[in-house]
Amino acid sequence: MADVVIVGGGFAGVWSAAGAALARGDADLRITLVAPNEHMVLRPRLYEPEPDLAAVELSRILGPIAVEHVRATVSTIDTDRRVVVADGAEIGYDRLVLAAGSELVRPDGLPGAERLFDIDTLDGARRLTAHLRGREDYSAVVVGAGFVGLEAATALAARGRVLLVDRSDVVGDQLGPGPREAIEAALDELGIERRLGTTVTEVGDGYAVLSDGTGVAADAVVWSVGMRASRLTEQISEELDGLGRVPVDRHLRGLPEVFVAGDTAAAAVDALHTVMQACQHATPLGKVAGYNAAADLLGVPLREFTPGPYVTCLDLGGAGGIFTRGWDRRVMASGADGGEIKRQINLAIHPPVDDAEAILAAADRVRIELPFFPRDEEVPAA
Ligand SMILES: Cc1cc2nc3c(=O)[nH]c(=O)nc-3n(C[C@H](O)[C@H](O)[C@H](O)COP(=O)(O)OP(=O)(O)OC[C@H]3O[C@@H](n4cnc5c(N)ncnc54)[C@H](O)[C@@H]3O)c2cc1C
Repeated sequence: MADVVIVGGGFAGVWSAAGAALARGDADLRITLVAPNEHMVLRPRLYEPEPDLAAVELSRILGPIAVEHVRATVSTIDTDRRVVVADGAEIGYDRLVLAAGSELVRPDGLPGAERLFDIDTLDGARRLTAHLRGREDYSAVVVGAGFVGLEAATALAARGRVLLVDRSDVVGDQLGPGPREAIEAALDELGIERRLGTTVTEVGDGYAVLSDGTGVAADAVVWSVGMRASRLTEQISEELDGLGRVPVDRHLRGLPEVFVAGDTAAAAVDALHTVMQACQHATPLGKVAGYNAAADLLGVPLREFTPGPYVTCLDLGGAGGIFTRGWDRRVMASGADGGEIKRQINLAIHPPVDDAEAILAAADRVRIELPFFPRDEEVPAA
């Protein structure tokens, strides 16, 4: 029997499994997902006060669609012999989908780095939540004013004083100027102090030292400076992009027998843009990569990667949220309206469970247009 093996159990891995099961139909094909976790972790929800709500049992998705789950970590991908080594055991494949995701870029040699918190993983978010539980007036420093840092800072501002620190001279540097004014207004509303053009150079017990030499009170320092693809990508390609991702073609093929999805894939969206390391891309990337891995073995036509329009939705805690559309991130909704859209997105990213038909139907919908997204014609005139 031929084997499709998927490495990773996040958005990309799970939807690859469903995509492969969709293409398989009744054919004789084994689909195996290898990941150490028992749960699919919905990382976009990890800034929330109850991180355990951001986890879905993998067995409830993989079981109904007859995908085997091997709970192990892959250390080696041998593309010549077509095997992966997972916790010391070899697993052979005919087609592989690499969907091992990304992880937080951690500081190199920062004194006190072991005291840092993060919301990159379920365990990280649980640790931060447990550390601050029951404390009403803590001081928190958030390092990194990008998407994740802004969500962490505005969530933490609900019960404490927050200082937001970034090397850049502006907040949300990589989000561009589109939403900046709305972000600044939200930070002001929540009383979040900013120290821009600076970083943290030391973390101690109850304090942090900034690069300008000042010491600040810090019951928790949350590190959120960006993500990088899993190092497994280095075993697939020598031509990784700046985020460590594998270049892929329009069918998401990185090598003749290897497809790549999610935060490990540098796929083109159009002539000008490459996918973001975001679940809104990881999900359709997974659906297409998994489908194609199986279709390639079964002689079925492959699918092209055609995601829906690019949007972002940033949670800003007590100040609501910001929903943007387009690569210039035009603000379509802010305040309470933006917050409500984010709440709906955070529910919509949960995959269907326990129902093979619903899971396979969702795997077949690559371009998602959610009903609550405001459309272009609703953009207020500039
Ligand atoms: C706090 C936070 C907020 C975010 N907010 C948003 C948002 O609002 N919108 C948005 O679109 N995106 C957001 N993102 C980004 C989004 O979460 C990621 O783009 C998405 O999780 C990528 O999915 P993935 O499946 O590629 O990778 P991951 O979710 O990282 O999953 C990777 C999987 O691979 C497994 N794995 C890793 N290494 C191995 C190995 N060696 N062997 C086997 N398995 C392995 C992991 O255990 C995991 O199961 C956010 C991320 C964070 C951290």
